[in-house]
Formats: sequence, C-alpha cells, structure tokens
Amino acid sequence: MIASSCSPAFQRTNVNANANANANANANANATYSQSQSQSAFLSTAAAAAAAAVQDPSLYQQDSSSTTTSKSSSKHINANANTNANENENAHFPNLFKSLDLGPNIGHLPNRVIMGSMHTGLEGHSIPNFLLPLLQSDSNTGSTGNTTTHDDLFAMATYFEHRAKGGAGLMVTGGIAPNRAGWVGPFAAKLTTHDEMLLHKEVTQRVHSVQVPSYSNDNTINGSNINGSNINGNDTSNSDSDSTETARICLQILHAGRYAHHPFAVSASSTKSPISQFQARELSLNEVHSTIQDFINCAVLAKEAGYDGVEIMGSEGYLINQFLVSRTNKRKDEYGGEDFINRAKFAVEIVKQTRQAVGEDFIIIFRLSMLDLIQDGNSWEEVKILAGALEDAGATIINTGIGWHEARIPTISTSVPRGSFAWVTKKLRDEGIIDIPLCATNRVNDPHVGERILQENDADLVSMARPFLADPDIVKKSREGRVEEINTCIACNQACLDHAFVGKTASCLVNPMACHETELSVIENSVRKEDRLRIGVIGSGPAGMAFATTAATIGHHVTLYDKSSELGGQFNMAKRIPGKEEFNETVRYFKWQIDKLKRQGKLNLLLDTELSHTDMEENEEGIDKWIVATGVNPRTPSIPGIEHPNVLSYIDVLRNKAKVGNNVAIIGAGGIGFDVAEYLIHHKDGDIDKVADEMSVDDFLKDWGVDASIATRGGIDISSNSNSDNKNKNKPSSHLSGRKITMLQRKKGKLGKNLGKTTGWIHRATLSKSGAVDMLGAVTYDRIDENGHLHIILNQGTPKEKTQVLEVDNIITCAGQTPKDDLQRAVGSELKDKVFTIGGAYEALELDAKRAIDMGTRLALKLSDDSVVPGKHKFQAGVGPEEKLFEFLTSVMK
Ligand code: NAP
Ligand code: SF4
Repeated sequence: MIASSCSPAFQRTNVNANANANANANANANATYSQSQSQSAFLSTAAAAAAAAVQDPSLYQQDSSSTTTSKSSSKHINANANTNANENENAHFPNLFKSLDLGPNIGHLPNRVIMGSMHTGLEGHSIPNFLLPLLQSDSNTGSTGNTTTHDDLFAMATYFEHRAKGGAGLMVTGGIAPNRAGWVGPFAAKLTTHDEMLLHKEVTQRVHSVQVPSYSNDNTINGSNINGSNINGNDTSNSDSDSTETARICLQILHAGRYAHHPFAVSASSTKSPISQFQARELSLNEVHSTIQDFINCAVLAKEAGYDGVEIMGSEGYLINQFLVSRTNKRKDEYGGEDFINRAKFAVEIVKQTRQAVGEDFIIIFRLSMLDLIQDGNSWEEVKILAGALEDAGATIINTGIGWHEARIPTISTSVPRGSFAWVTKKLRDEGIIDIPLCATNRVNDPHVGERILQENDADLVSMARPFLADPDIVKKSREGRVEEINTCIACNQACLDHAFVGKTASCLVNPMACHETELSVIENSVRKEDRLRIGVIGSGPAGMAFATTAATIGHHVTLYDKSSELGGQFNMAKRIPGKEEFNETVRYFKWQIDKLKRQGKLNLLLDTELSHTDMEENEEGIDKWIVATGVNPRTPSIPGIEHPNVLSYIDVLRNKAKVGNNVAIIGAGGIGFDVAEYLIHHKDGDIDKVADEMSVDDFLKDWGVDASIATRGGIDISSNSNSDNKNKNKPSSHLSGRKITMLQRKKGKLGKNLGKTTGWIHRATLSKSGAVDMLGAVTYDRIDENGHLHIILNQGTPKEKTQVLEVDNIITCAGQTPKDDLQRAVGSELKDKVFTIGGAYEALELDAKRAIDMGTRLALKLSDDSVVPGKHKFQAGVGPEEKLFEFLTSVMK
C-alpha cells in the first residue's frame, strides 16, 4: 500500500482486492487501486475502471494463455501474455517473442523488445535558413562521405525503416524538444509547428510500410514467405511466426531543462547542473503552465504526423525529473516544495492532459526515473506514488530510467554488467501497484539477457537502444535463433553518445553504417562482375577485418593474411581489460563473418603468414590491390636505461602475458595507459579472463555504492562514502590484485583528460577509488637505473621542482604508437598505385577501433571506383551543420 503520508490527491485505496476472485486471478498482479478523492487533480481513469469492475466482474477477462487476469478497458492491457489463441512459442526466446496486447484501441505489439530512444543527430535541427550556408561542409575535409544536411528527415526515416525491417515492433525516436527552451543544444530538433510536423510524416510512413512478424504457427502471409533468405544468404524459413503487426514508432518528447547547452535554459528553480555551462532560469508559474501546453502541443503534432505514440522523458535528470526532486525543485508554489505531490504535479499534468488531447488510441510511454543515483533524489515511496499517478493519468507503458546524467555512477558503459538494473524494474513490478506494462532498460545488449529478464518476471518489456545501432537486425536474428550472427553493441559509447555530445551524427564503432544508411550500404555481391578485384589484405586487426569482410561481401575476392595465429589484432588485448569483456563479442562476430565468407569461397584466410614486400611484388596470387592494415608499433620512449629487462611494453603485458611485479610505474596516461592500470589493479597472476556474461552485478553495485534496497533517497549508499555529492571517494573496488601503480605523463594537468567524453570519468574514478593508483603529471623522465628504478623530475624548471626515484618492480611503457607501415614504404614503384594503407598503419595518432573499422569499411565500398587513389583518401564521414555549429560555438565560448 502506498504510505499514508501521501496527500489525498494521490491516495489510492485497494478497492479491488476481491474483485477478481471470480476470474481466478493472480492476486499480486491484480492489486488494483482506485483514487479516493473524486475531486483529485489527477483524474483516475484506472480507478474508474477498477471501481466499475467491482460492480461488474465480467469487465475482467481471463487471459487464454496465462493465469493472469487483464482488464478490457482500453487503457488496461494484458501485460503478461499473448491473447492470440493460435500463438506458437518461439523456439529460441519464447518470452521475447510473445506479443503484447495494449488493449482494443491500440492493439498488439509483436514482441517484447522496444527500440529505446537514442539521440542520433538524424532528428533534424532548427537552425535558421540564413545560418545554414555558413555551416555547409567545405569540400576540403578529405571525406568520402556525403554530408547530411538534415533539412529533411529522409535519413532518419531510412534509419528507422531498417530497424523495423529488422524486427523492432515498437521504436522510440531520439529526444525532440517541445519548445525552444527545451532544446538540448542551440537550434536542436523541436516539434512545435505544422511545418515541422509535415517533415515527420516521411518517418512514420516508412515505418508503417513494414510488417513485423508476430507469433503464430506457419510461415506464410497471404501465400508469401515473410522470412525468406536474408542478406547473409541464410535460409530463415524455419521461423514459425505467421501473423504480423505493423511496425510502430513513438516520438520522444524531451525538454532538457537545466541540461540545455544554451543560455536560455530553464528549470523548476534557478540552478546549474555540474555538467552544464549555463545557469538555468526558474520558470514562472505561467511558464510552467505554458510548458505543459507545449508538451501537449508536441504530442498532438506527433499524432498528426502519424506517430503511434509519444515517450515523455521524465528521467535521466531532464526537466520533468528536475521538477520531481527537491534537490532541483525549490519552488514555493503548487509545483514545488517539500510535498512530493506538488513536485510530481508537473509530470502528472503533462501525462493527464496529453491523454485527454490525443485520445485512447495513442501510446503514452513515460520514462520514470526509478533510481536517480544522486543525493536527495526521490525515495522509493515517491517513485511508487508517481508510478500509480501516471497510470491513473493515462500512461500506457512505464519505461525505466536509471541515473541522472550528472550521477557519478556508471549506468550504461561497458564496465556495467549486462542487465545490471533490471532488479529496479522488478522491484516496482513486485509492488503490484500498477497494471500497465513495465519496461526494463540499461545494458540489455543480448537476447539472452532480455529473455532472462522477462522469464524471471522482472518486467513486461525490455528496451535496447544502442544494440539497434550495432545491429539493425538484432530482433530478427534472435527470433530466427541466429544469435552468433548478432553484431553486439559493446557499450563503448565512442561513436554514438560521444558523437551526440559534440553535434556529430551518431554512428557505431562496430557498425559504421549506423545512422549513415543513405550513404553506406553493404549489399551482397553488389559490385559488377567486371569490377570485381582480387584483393590482398595484410593484417587482421579491426581495420583489416572490416575491410576484408566488407569487400568480400560486396563481391571482391579477398585473401586475408596475418602473421599471428589468431584474428583480431588489438581487439585481443582490449578484451582482456576488466570492464571491456564485450570486445570478445566483436571478435566473435568478425570470426563468424569470415567463416561464412570462407565457406562461400569469397575469402581466403592465411594466418601464421608474414608477407614481405618481395612477396607483394612477386604477387604470385595475381592480387590486383593490396591493403596494408598492419597496425602500429608501440613507441619506445628515449629514456636512458629503457632497455632494462624490467621495462615492458603494454604488448608484453596484455598480449604476451608477461609476469608483472607488485610495484609498477606506467609511462604514458592515454587510453592504453589507463587500460593497463585497470588490468593490473584487478588482475592477479593465474586469473582467467572473464567474458561479459560473467561480470558480477552485485560486485558492481557494491563497488559504486548503489543501495540495492533503495532505502536511501536516489538509491545511493551514502555510508559507503562513494557518492557523497558526486564524488567517488576512496571506496575500494572489490577483487583488487594488491598491486601499487604510479601513472605518469609529461603534460601538466589532469591525467586521462582526453579519454572518451562519456566514459573518461569512469576510468578516472575507477582508478582513483581503488586507492591503488597514484597519478603524476608534469614529469620529466631522467633515467632508469641498473635496478630498474625510474628516476623522475617533477615540475622541472619551476619553484616546485623535485626529483623522485620510483623503486618499482616493473616499468610499463604506454607511450603511444607509431604507424607500422614498412610494407607500404618498401614496395617498389610499379606496385605503389596498388597499395592502400588503412587504420593505424595509415595514421597512428589518436587511432582507435572506431576509426580503423570506419576507414576499412568505407575504403572497401569505394575501392573499385577509379577516383580512389592511394594516399589521397581519408575515408570518414562528412561534417554536418550541427557539428560545425557546435565547433563554432565552442570556439566562441572559449
Ligand atoms: P595516447 O592516447 O596518444 O597516449 C599516449 C601517452 O603516452 C600520453 O599520455 C603521452 O603523454 C605519452 N607519451 C607520448 N609520447 C611519449 C614519449 N615519447 N615519451 C613518454 N611518454 C610519451 O595513446 P595510447 O594510450 O597508446 O592510445 C592509443 C589510442 O587508442 C588513443 O587514441 C586512445 O584514445 C585509444 N584508446 C582509447 C581507449 C578508450 O577507453 N576509449 C582505450 C585504449 C585506447 P605525455 O606526452 O604527456 O607524456
Ligand atoms: Fe554500442 Fe559502441 Fe556502437 Fe555505441 S558505438 S552503439 S556503444 S558499440
């Protein structure tokens, strides 16, 4: 029961405890509440239905395939099972592929997977026309990609159409602002006018042109096979689905509030978030009312544009969340103060008035922050009160929000174990307060994880966002049991969120086609026969594998050489880093592709084969073009004594598994220096490397001070001292190796400053709270003595100059890399025009897997084009107007 401290406006009494007895119901699932105050500010449609049911139990239908009782009201849905009497279970993931009945006005969703909201940059913008010419991409970027101007939503429509064809039954767009103040950044996408609405019709029409298989028992629709064979040439006709549902899409309405990166930011009160540049202005009471109206207007326009619903973004610390929490809501009027009912009024009014405006045949998803992960966040009681009120107000589905953006606990990065937060959704589900479906989120990147969540009744739906960037066909492949073929999202954020934060169109590290579908497509055998080439690819790291698999798929004949005995190059080191276990999946996916192409006779793999430039010149296999993807050499810093046997490179440690002592100095504090430090503080001699599924959720929650009982506000364990006001203070991680590490760099300032935008802080916090790592900047390396000890000078040439000797067992060099391009430089002139260098061998500076895979893929798609000549290519995406605007504004604000 909801606590009696709750104000009458929200009080719901269980009037229906016995109402379902005749229906043989599951008592817990039927804890239906009604509102005690008919004058309540929040009209209780749920209460009305529940009260009616007391008088007329026939309003409840016994579901045909489960013991759960559902209500026939348009708003009350059958969250637990498919009502289709003919349904057949999916042989691979029976729970993921149950349809979901959202009531007679809305109908069925074909499966339990929502493609969650993800800002891609394809949502358009509201940059005024007079500015656009100034922001057009110049032709001199060296890019081979078209620049998407986003003045129409064709690219967005294509992106969603692909995902619908890949089996997503319900998708949610990236966040669209309901008014200017709500923009996430200057001139971001908004939906406030008729003209903007018209642009969205392209998206909804293309999505609605797709039918998504739903479950029944034969595989034909109107006599035609709906599955057929897929792009990989597999026969998929063994799928047993035969009914279909039209694919659906909801528009996410997101008002950024104080997270807005522009000077017009507004919020519940005048506050500034720790991750914002701008102080938000407090909305006046009139402005609160008009902002609510802007949400309604946006939802109505979304409906006119053909969307099937809206998702109202009430979590992650955006405006609605700012109203909900006393930390950011200091208002004295009816929308603020100590009373949660007042703070919740903004959210509930938006849902209630939206429902009234859009009618019953429109999905309203509310993204509810169930675990704020900030100090003074909402209590669990408040979350429950709000969930009930949202159902009463007319929400169709409640989606789970975990953590504000300013929270210093990771929630979606690769170091977060899979499905780490499903227990939060389960907790709400187990309260039995609401009947509408609940959706679990965060680090669901694999169908097994989603299936487990549903099977254990943690939620009714699972949401995946980034996994659809990595593989648009993830649902289809799961349905057909082709799990090995899924290109798994590794939660690195490098090409998706890190792009979104700098105005760049999103992409995906493991799938460069994501959000670039109108520009790049890998179509099997699409190269004309006369243009097909014999290509030798030297090096099977990320760049080489991406090139080889793309080129062979589109029709070239590829021979892939590597002197190593295994595929994967630097991936094989990355996957050993604790928290980066997901890289195993990328290696698995590439291996599967290469095996398939080998079987198809399109690719020849020669491991343990080192090629010399003489081999290339003799060219016994008749290769037309050579791709040098040999990667990088670790840089050896020129420090006297560097040849001492105690000095190891990161390759010695991560690839060759060299024995490392207890006291270690790391020279260089870039991405690899941090990775090595993380590896050494956790990895004990004899430890076996883990895979992603083996990461412990309990350890993760404990390490980061998450209060799994949610007895504390915001769910943070203040006693652990790890989260007191956004600082991760010295709370040691579990399972430390006992090593002591000193990380060093020559630059002044914070170490790890240039790590990924959305993940760098996690790497820094992990090392700092371990208590095992010292970080020193402004270091001059003097020498390494005969004992292998490192002599350094700190702050040389300043009054703070001092010398220090690090008496360490090992020194590990992580001092950057140089291109390993000897083959390209050594080949004779007659071969020069045939040799293309990619990845780290092309440019080592700031190389990462994202750039390597992107470059390999783009070159493979262009290689038979005569205009592509060695040395005159960069092969990267064009720069769009949003990115240019971001660059311009950043330079102005500096
Ligand atoms: P990096 O990021 O360029 O860092 C090289 C480090 O070595 C710097 O700290 C640099 O600092 C130091 N250094 C450079 N030249 C040196 C010299 N001659 N003597 C001594 N120290 C020297 O390179 P990386 O760490 O090898 O990483 C390579 C790429 O992989 C980077 O682009 C990185 O972003 C990426 N990566 C990313 C991640 C991730 O988590 N996203 C993880 C691993 C790698 P000083 O010059 O100040 O001494
Ligand atoms: Fe996932 Fe990384 Fe791709 Fe983003 S860039 S979708 S996190 S694999």
